[in-house]
Amino acid sequence: MPTRHLIIGGGTAGLNAIRTIREEDRGASEITLVSAERPYSRMVLPYYLGQSIAESHVFTATPASLAAWKVKTLIGRRAAALDPEANALTLDDGTRVEYDDCLIATGSRAARPPIPGADGPGLHSFWTLEEARAVIAAVTPGRRVVMVGAGFISFTILNAILSRGARLTIVEVAPRILPRMVDAGCAELVAGWLTRHGVAIRTGVTVTRIEERRGTRILHVKKGEALPADVVIMATGIRTNLEWLRDSGIDMAEGGQGGILVDDHLRSSIRNVYAAGDVARGRNLITGAPEVHAIEPTAQEHGRVVGANMAGRDVAYRGSLLMNIVEVCHLDIASFGQWDDAAAEVYTAVRPDRSQYRKLLFHGGRLTGAMICGPAKDIWTTNDVGILKGLVQSGVDLSAWKSHLERNPFDIKPAFMATHNPGRLLPQTVLGRPSSSPDLPQSVNA
Ligand SMILES: Cc1cc2nc3c(=O)[nH]c(=O)nc-3n(C[C@H](O)[C@H](O)[C@H](O)COP(=O)(O)OP(=O)(O)OC[C@H]3O[C@@H](n4cnc5c(N)ncnc54)[C@H](O)[C@@H]3O)c2cc1C
Repeated sequence: MPTRHLIIGGGTAGLNAIRTIREEDRGASEITLVSAERPYSRMVLPYYLGQSIAESHVFTATPASLAAWKVKTLIGRRAAALDPEANALTLDDGTRVEYDDCLIATGSRAARPPIPGADGPGLHSFWTLEEARAVIAAVTPGRRVVMVGAGFISFTILNAILSRGARLTIVEVAPRILPRMVDAGCAELVAGWLTRHGVAIRTGVTVTRIEERRGTRILHVKKGEALPADVVIMATGIRTNLEWLRDSGIDMAEGGQGGILVDDHLRSSIRNVYAAGDVARGRNLITGAPEVHAIEPTAQEHGRVVGANMAGRDVAYRGSLLMNIVEVCHLDIASFGQWDDAAAEVYTAVRPDRSQYRKLLFHGGRLTGAMICGPAKDIWTTNDVGILKGLVQSGVDLSAWKSHLERNPFDIKPAFMATHNPGRLLPQTVLGRPSSSPDLPQSVNA
């Protein structure tokens, strides 16, 4: 009997696992996909909001392409309970699916704080396609949009909201914007830039209550004036979709980011149950510590590693690099690795007149974290984003370059070239080989 693989969740991690299984076994096994939603990429939803792509371009697989991959689909169904002893999953309609091995890739959802009125009608999150459709319908020219939360997700949709002609205010409880992505110096530059581009920013502000008055939302705050809004978008963090595993016996982390505990092959505490993407506490490439990295590259890499292991290979995961890259009003902002490490040797440089910021963090000769900000029109800013990512990712020895970089953290290209970093990075692949499925569907239109 062919091996029965069960993939739970049809997002980035789930789809990458399916694709990799098929790269490895060319259709020899049975694959069943259970997914609450049709497969699509959440990461491209901001481009849909900004009207630079059509809705059909967000999908990563169609029924036809999944059929070509010989995948049996149960789309629109939710996993409700896992019984690892019986190797069986029960769905929300009572259907039972048996498996030989399975992948949990149910991702995350938007979380809202317990603010009175924060879950009423007319308040939005921006995480799923359905939520994106609602925001698209609501954000029209001249409307006052208030975004609660100045984190990475807010920033991914900022350009799109402005491009729809709305007036934008961002409210953040922390004393600065992007508190989990950049440091205070960088945040100050970005805040100044956004203010000059017409975005109102209010930091250190706690929203205490949201009420509706004749179609307008009023956001009451702890100190200062209440804020009126036509549209409120709550971008106040995410939570993993793991509640349905409560009685499964699978080991999960308590508190913090939570997540399923996994080994270096991304196996959970149950040997034939894997976890990948936002739900998995995989290895951090720099520190080796188990962590949830709720970002697209991690979901892709996890998916490929699990897919290969499910197909019978023996692939250990080297770990994922924490990274956030975003562009707002033509300002590039990025941070890589351990950018907030108090134990590191830190070199920073700022050119406030040019909105340029650099931060390099070292342990010995190794660059373990980096931060960059600068106008996208300065072509070297965009180049340096890639260079810094490459240097942190490769872990190359930069000892000979440290004194130069300490004097001028902006001048990183010579170190990148002299250490032959491009040559080190190019052959690096997650599975020890390039992706190899030209005959299989790659991407699709609905
Ligand atoms: C607006 C936005 C912009 C983003 N931009 C970036 C970016 O620029 N860079 C970046 O690195 N990351 C970005 N991300 C984050 C990135 O999209 C996620 O980290 C990534 O999608 C995680 O992949 P995943 O497969 O773990 O989960 P998901 O892609 O969330 O997929 C989870 C799947 O599981 C399904 N599911 C959930 N519960 C169940 C259940 N009980 N039963 C069955 N199915 C279930 C869901 O319907 C979904 O299909 C962005 C996210 C958003 C929302």
